[in-house]
Amino acid sequence: RIAYVNGRYTPHADASVHVEDRGYQFADGVYEVCEVARGNIMDMTRHLDRLDRSLRELRIEWPIARRALEFVMREVVRRNHVENGLVYLQVTRGVAPRDHYFPAAGTQPALVVTAKRSSPAVAARRAAEGVKVITVPENRWERVDIKTVGLLPNVLARQKAREAGAVEAWFIDTDGTVKEGASTNAWIVTADGTLVTRPAEFGILRGITRATVMDVAKKLGLKVEERSFSVDEAKGAKEAFITAATTVVMPVVDIDGASVANGHPGSVTLSLREAFFDIAEKTPA
Ligand code: PLP
Repeated sequence: RIAYVNGRYTPHADASVHVEDRGYQFADGVYEVCEVARGNIMDMTRHLDRLDRSLRELRIEWPIARRALEFVMREVVRRNHVENGLVYLQVTRGVAPRDHYFPAAGTQPALVVTAKRSSPAVAARRAAEGVKVITVPENRWERVDIKTVGLLPNVLARQKAREAGAVEAWFIDTDGTVKEGASTNAWIVTADGTLVTRPAEFGILRGITRATVMDVAKKLGLKVEERSFSVDEAKGAKEAFITAATTVVMPVVDIDGASVANGHPGSVTLSLREAFFDIAEKTPA
């Protein structure tokens, strides 16, 4: 495997950053994950638009020009022969003597890009079965709309899910409504077939897959409502699912040990998953 680190393509096993990288010391950085499907990077424009926003919110400069980053992403996918999988990129505020203040002007932001393969067959089997989620109290900071590498609450929630025999944990607001998963957005389908997902203005990450699923829904003539929903509403919903670049559309069949509907993936969810590839933007690697 090959990784890109600050201007160089290097064997993945040797890829490393300095001990005083601010990402390492302060989680002072942002990232993106794009799905690679059938040799295409999916929704690259939306992912890089969100990267631009994350960088601006944290006042980190682009490490290289956007066009150059697009080239590097395609090159890393190509050099790793990834037909299906993920491309990961991370930008930190760079390397500087440890001090909370921003480093001196001119400090170069650090850029890492990696790619890995994954099996569409394994993902398809998982989607045919559906996944279980648990719920955990929201305990993250207010700016989860920024895609930072500071993910400790997400790590702890996800591990708790695994130990409970589930794959994802939903963060629950103080009013009992579902915010989002540790690395996914949360959705339900109501009895009349309407898709419901939380508004992305505050308190959740504006998922790229979430945006594209809205496009898919429009294409399929499905109604989408952006509103909060409670855990109880989700448990009683016709269908539930999660979205992320890593999982695309994944049916949820169990919430805190209670089956959603008959405990099998719903037909609306599966049709969204199926139509996703056709609707998403495709950038050949
Ligand atoms: N919510 C959180 C907290 C995430 O970390 C992610 C993805 O990593 C998502 C939602 C889904 O976003 P996307 O569809 O852009 O992958």
